[in-house]
Amino acid sequence: MQLMDNYQRRFQYLRLSITELCNFQCQYCLPNGYRPNKDHHFLTLNEIDNIVSIFTELGVHKIRLTGGEPTLRRDFIDILSMIASYPSVRDVAVTTNGSRLLKNVHHWHQAGLSSINISIDSFSPHLFKLITGQDKLKELLQGVEKSLEVGIKKVKINTVLMKNMNDKLSDYLAWIKQRPVELRFIELMETGESQDLFNRYHLAGHSIELQLIEQGWQLQPKQALSGPAKVYFHPQYLGKIGLIMPYSKDFCKSCNRLRVSSIGKLHYCLFGDAAVDLRDLLASSEQKAQLKARILASLMIKPEKHLLHQHKVGITPNLSYIGG
Ligand code: SAM
Ligand code: SF4
Repeated sequence: MQLMDNYQRRFQYLRLSITELCNFQCQYCLPNGYRPNKDHHFLTLNEIDNIVSIFTELGVHKIRLTGGEPTLRRDFIDILSMIASYPSVRDVAVTTNGSRLLKNVHHWHQAGLSSINISIDSFSPHLFKLITGQDKLKELLQGVEKSLEVGIKKVKINTVLMKNMNDKLSDYLAWIKQRPVELRFIELMETGESQDLFNRYHLAGHSIELQLIEQGWQLQPKQALSGPAKVYFHPQYLGKIGLIMPYSKDFCKSCNRLRVSSIGKLHYCLFGDAAVDLRDLLASSEQKAQLKARILASLMIKPEKHLLHQHKVGITPNLSYIGG
């Protein structure tokens, strides 16, 4: 079985948020820190299991855990092991702020984690603290080395580009020269709560792309079903540079992912105006047929593209709600 929408886009990749809780205060996400919503009860291990079970039956083979900060969940290792136990899941991934990486990545790897995206917005300790509210860069970088050491297959760094803040390409190049790591610049996206910040700091990833091309970097050919990132390589560098440019033309054409929030809502677009509640069908595996029907029906209303250019940011106040 395959998940396909009205625009012939196929979906084999699920981004699953497991909490809204976070211990960082990134300026573009939770500048005042996490504030609990008393009505939000996060998915249980059993509900997560039922989500994974249904989406794998629908052809999904890559699952990324996100949040909030997913690794803050006490049952994070149980969640990893449960997902890894599905033979059809080829990639168990996580996006993390890295705060628990150094001490735990070894256990995560043993539990079945195969890919990890670590958010590092600057290699300058001062700037890192300014952007994230945390003085943890040194420990995070040690965590990245440890991830490579323990044998995590794919290690990537996520850097949200902010104009005149962390946009100096040369600051990143030295670091990836000797490390087989893809560093991905993500264009700052506007959200319900971040309009002023967006106006002040948004920078098109194209400006980085032009510099890369000028310095001899080459575009890697896209593989079938790969997502919207453009990836550049250079013969003298072990690492690669990825660009995620949601404001660029045709960005949504290669959309290959669906999202489920930590309160069990299916978001067919990160910036959509609606989400489909799955929660009432997640308690028991006996409701699978209904759940499947609801997921398939909701896919038919997935929009062709987001409306960010018109500042229509959808229902999500900030990305900690659905994990980016
Ligand atoms: N807490 C984890 C982390 O930061 O890696 C996972 C959740 S976070 C919401 C997922 C990704 O979204 C991070 O790489 C973060 O930098 C990115 N992000 C958050 N808000 C963003 C925004 N407004 N524009 C672009 N990327 C954003
Ligand atoms: Fe937390 Fe991630 Fe949002 Fe930063 S981007 S505040 S680490 S959820």
